[in-house]
Amino acid sequence: MKTYWQEEIETLPRPKLEQLQLEKFRISLSQALKSPGYAQMYRERGIDQNCLQSLDDVRKLPFTSKEDLRQNYPYNLLTVPKEDVVRMHCTSGTTGNPAAVLYSRHDLHSWANLIARSLYAAGARASDVFQNSSGYGLFTGGLGFQNGAELLGCITIPAGSGNSKRQIKLMRDFGTTCLHAVPSYLGRLHAVFCEMGLDPRRDTSLQRLFIGAEPHSEETRLRIQEMYGCKAYNSFGMTEMNGPGVAFECECQAGMHVWEDCYFLEIVDPETLEAVPDGEIGEMVLTTLDREAMPIIRYRTHDLTRIIAEPCACGRTARRIDRIKGRSDDMFIIKGCNVFPIQIERILMKIAEIGSDYLIVLDSNAEGDYLNVQAELKPEAFTDEYHFLERLRKKIAAEIRDEIQVTPEVTLVAPGALPKNEGKAIRVNDLRKN
Ligand code: ADP
Ligand code: ZN
Repeated sequence: MKTYWQEEIETLPRPKLEQLQLEKFRISLSQALKSPGYAQMYRERGIDQNCLQSLDDVRKLPFTSKEDLRQNYPYNLLTVPKEDVVRMHCTSGTTGNPAAVLYSRHDLHSWANLIARSLYAAGARASDVFQNSSGYGLFTGGLGFQNGAELLGCITIPAGSGNSKRQIKLMRDFGTTCLHAVPSYLGRLHAVFCEMGLDPRRDTSLQRLFIGAEPHSEETRLRIQEMYGCKAYNSFGMTEMNGPGVAFECECQAGMHVWEDCYFLEIVDPETLEAVPDGEIGEMVLTTLDREAMPIIRYRTHDLTRIIAEPCACGRTARRIDRIKGRSDDMFIIKGCNVFPIQIERILMKIAEIGSDYLIVLDSNAEGDYLNVQAELKPEAFTDEYHFLERLRKKIAAEIRDEIQVTPEVTLVAPGALPKNEGKAIRVNDLRKN
């Protein structure tokens, strides 16, 4: 049985890893230029693989944007004959063309290998029973984790999203030890456990949770770990970069290792687009280094994070990124203050009476814009006792004001009362735009 601790590559000394990156970057670039899309975007600027003499030269290459992917939809970034393509996935693309990704057999194997490696790094083994509650279909979290966990050798249960009672039944019947879910779903799933008179800490065999795909705070992770009585490992991915498995926490739970043998990582200032020093927050820019059918060069992710350059205690030499602070387009401005939803989440998740779901509503009236934070109470804190609720509202409003300099209106609602979204949670409703 193959193990997914790929020691020689995962602990490659940095200079050797960087040498490998340069070689693979050059291959990716010359591969990308075989597509009509990159041929047009890059060749007319005189760019080819000879432009890359060192990794510093990467900075001379133009960025690729989501708009570039949309404009080249569906086949214009393809570098191999169509008969060599075996899969496609795409982003939700509710307006206009989505960004679609095409995979060759090599690409699917490389992706599954990265997920297997990631799961192993976070402690999963072939002996685990892995339940995947991601949606299957065009969304990459379903088949991505399925193939990765199968490659690792786990009994892999394609439970799909929703249907919490069935999730719980499968978990109990098959002795699920690893569960992959978006963090916002784990709160709702826990509520169903409670309704059924069950406690996941006592009534399941769960040993590890894999969470990711949406921004969440450390406070949310701690709550999830408390609810399920096991560790929850953060993971980052995006469809344009295959899907999940781009960056994953190891058992140290101290930031996510970006698999740098397969992705080239840069953090840039989103305004100037210049590299920021290690440790400073900026926009993550990623290049695929191991993709055959559709390499993507210097992709602007809009995700904000920072590099943790210090070596990790686990011995892996791939650098880590910090928890994603949000996407640059998630930030909203209210009364002149810049706010990320996660700043509000962190405060709510520290308050014992508040459940896991909340919604930030931005609206305006005759006096101007206002911010309304709606939060569900936990079942045990649910009451109509006015003074209690008023004290709680005031406390939350004051803590949020200290963090963001704007005093919100706080609305406390019954457990389960806020709208639920299958898949990723929607945390902000900006009515000012209408
Ligand atoms: P996926 O199928 O991997 O979720 P999508 O393309 O639908 O991919 O979404 C990718 C986006 O999801 C990322 O650009 C990022 O904004 C967000 N995301 C993914 N993983 C995380 C994570 N661990 N923490 C915060 N945000 C994340
Ligand atoms: Zn590590």
